[in-house]
Amino acid sequence: MQEREELLGWKWLAGRWLSLVDWGGPGVTPLRAGLRYAAAPLRRSEVLSWKGGPVSGRVGGMSMDTELQKHYALLLGIGSPWEVKTVELKLPEKKVEIELGWQWGQSAKCPECGRACSIHDSAPERTWRHLDTMQFATLIRARTPRSDCPEHGVKTMQVPWAEPQGRFTLLFERFAVDVLTASASVSQACELLGIGWETAHEIMRRAVERGLERRQLEALPHLGMDEKSFGRGQSYITLLTDLEQARVLDVVEDRTAEAAQELWQTLSPEQKQTVEAVAVDMWEPFIRAIEKEVPDADIVHDKYHVSSYLGKAVDQVRRQEHKELMAQGDETLKGSRQLWLDNPENFSPEQRSEFGALKDLHLKVARAWAAKELFSQFWRYQEEGWARRFFKGWYSWVSRSQLKPLVEVGQMLKRHLENLLTYLNHHITNAVTEGLNSKIQGIKAAARGFRSFRNYRTRILFFCGKLV
Ligand SMILES: [Zn+2]
Repeated sequence: MQEREELLGWKWLAGRWLSLVDWGGPGVTPLRAGLRYAAAPLRRSEVLSWKGGPVSGRVGGMSMDTELQKHYALLLGIGSPWEVKTVELKLPEKKVEIELGWQWGQSAKCPECGRACSIHDSAPERTWRHLDTMQFATLIRARTPRSDCPEHGVKTMQVPWAEPQGRFTLLFERFAVDVLTASASVSQACELLGIGWETAHEIMRRAVERGLERRQLEALPHLGMDEKSFGRGQSYITLLTDLEQARVLDVVEDRTAEAAQELWQTLSPEQKQTVEAVAVDMWEPFIRAIEKEVPDADIVHDKYHVSSYLGKAVDQVRRQEHKELMAQGDETLKGSRQLWLDNPENFSPEQRSEFGALKDLHLKVARAWAAKELFSQFWRYQEEGWARRFFKGWYSWVSRSQLKPLVEVGQMLKRHLENLLTYLNHHITNAVTEGLNSKIQGIKAAARGFRSFRNYRTRILFFCGKLV
């Protein structure tokens, strides 16, 4: 029975390879021609292999298979002095193992300085995972020569098919990155690629590293800095975003001044020079970090954060007033919370008439609401002088309003007025960052059981950093 199964396996495989040849038709390319010739030795090997009932069939190492070896050399993108020595099919394991060898006598390049050196010896054999061949997991095995450099000593050469510490070929990594970015989830990608969770992470980490290296020369005029709660309780992460390309530049744990400063180290000194403005909330540690790291950039306080502070003040005024009214049995404000917070432009006709009636009742919350609505005018000015004049008028009205929550927000805005006015020059907000926040939220939800912040960062940069 065992023999029969192996036989079927071989025939199936040979059949697939032959059908590959058919695609070429007349006028085949050299690569396809190689496949055509490859089919014959395969059939011969088939007979040799299953009769003896071996666990694996060997299809290489003999001169008749040089076309097959050439074919694999082309697929791997390798050339002299590297060559394919053997191709081994391990049917029960559904594996193809390709052994690569160095043509001895060739000089070896020192990985440090690139000098052609004599060969000292070979490093122990290593294995790399490559793209599957017809759904057969394909592995590359090789012993890499070690160069004997007069300056740098004995060093293992770099191989052209993989990165120095990589366990995968460059082609496999590229393919895995594409699958990961296209898949609905990392676990789905793992299943498609036949790799584990840890491996997927390793591939993402390396892709992110390569991307970060490439990014070092890009100009970044408009950035955003924002916090986001992370995990349970009071832990936060801080994000630096590129507002123009809608991508996360980097992320650190916490939202302290130290964390914020560390975050800026992701930019090269040259890149910091290109920063013109940073959109940020009125959060002192962030402001200090920006002043220190990019002193020439304008700080622009975010109009969405400002609007949210004003909204909270309106809500506090409403809660207090509702309590006072209820104490007298007056239910005027009952169930009205959302009306004071939503944009009236989106109201239904019923909401509009209900709100219109409430607004005219000389309520405290109606005054707070009017102050909040009026402030939106500030962002529409083009001239700084007019915006200043407007703010002065608005502030003096608010400070006489006797609505404590609103007065407090007014004072905060007054303290930061200079960095509110910068909006008129740059027109940037963290709306992009908010959009990325929701994408990050998805990553967080999918990544329960994340062991460390480092892994979380890798994922954020992989999926939101536009690095791959
Ligand atoms: Zn050297």
